[in-house]
Amino acid sequence: EGMQSESKIYVAGHRGLVGSAIMRRLKAGGYLNIITRTHAELDLIDQIAVTDFLAQENPDYVFLAAAKVGGILANNTYPADFIYQNLMIQSNIIHAAFLSKIKKLLFLGSSCIYPKFAPQPMNEDHLLTGILEPTNEPYAIAKIAGIKMCSSYNRQYGTNFISVMPTNLYGPGDNYDLQNSHVMPAMIRKMHEAKIRGDTKVCVWGSGSPRREFLYNEDMADACVFLMENRDANEIGEFVNIGVGEDLTIRELAEKVSRVVGYHGELVFDTSKPDGTPQKLLDVKRLNKLGWRSKTILDEGIKLAYQDFIKGQCV
Ligand code: GDP
Repeated sequence: EGMQSESKIYVAGHRGLVGSAIMRRLKAGGYLNIITRTHAELDLIDQIAVTDFLAQENPDYVFLAAAKVGGILANNTYPADFIYQNLMIQSNIIHAAFLSKIKKLLFLGSSCIYPKFAPQPMNEDHLLTGILEPTNEPYAIAKIAGIKMCSSYNRQYGTNFISVMPTNLYGPGDNYDLQNSHVMPAMIRKMHEAKIRGDTKVCVWGSGSPRREFLYNEDMADACVFLMENRDANEIGEFVNIGVGEDLTIRELAEKVSRVVGYHGELVFDTSKPDGTPQKLLDVKRLNKLGWRSKTILDEGIKLAYQDFIKGQCV
């Protein structure tokens, strides 16, 4: 059962990196009946509030893009917040969506659900085949629980809850906080500020050798809407990876970002900071078979992300 322009759609996490892109994509696609709540209006950790909200509003479709997210340092520093808040948010919404008999739900996970030493590229069958990366294990465990919750409800109750696992995302609306953000926004900001100040050095965390894959958030939103419109849980399987199918080293990324930003100084690698997983590259065969592939090439995406960052700066 696919979404139609009159369908009532709830986007949880509509101000986040993916949620805000899903909002733009839905509006561009002619969807007229989208509901949202800010954190102040609805606390997704509050089970009663979430159950009442979904019972009253009775949406047909739910995008579950609300989560507590952060980069490697944030995950390492606040493990309790990451596991508690994510388990609560997703359990509350998934169960309340079941109670209010919605037509379809899309749950957003993350590629960190895969084992630390999973063969690369990682395909969906590698889930739960080895130990996780310790820096984000609590977050990953919550996301794995979300996948299993969706598939268990599908199995027991015949619901249509789909799960997607995106690779590292970046793009307009990102969090540019230097301590808690992911690598792409952190690099954009560090290099921009170094350029403005005329610094001769920028510090890159870790050895520079880990490999990562980066998907532009507008592409991610397009994939989510495509799946909600065209594919059901029984066609997708337990979940589907969403990625590009190509990765690069953190050093190569730093070089690309410095070219886009126009920073010409030196890159210094701070090996006192963690590297995390050595490689994170998704196998996107299942996604391609379902009929979707990414469009934005990395150099273009970094340019667009940098323009967005500049817009947010006070001049
Ligand atoms: P991860 O993909 O879960 O490991 O999360 P991140 O996006 O935070 O980090 C990816 C890689 O980039 C890790 O190897 C980091 O050590 C490295 N990295 C290099 N510089 C930075 C930085 O300024 N911020 C962050 N968050 N990571 C950085």
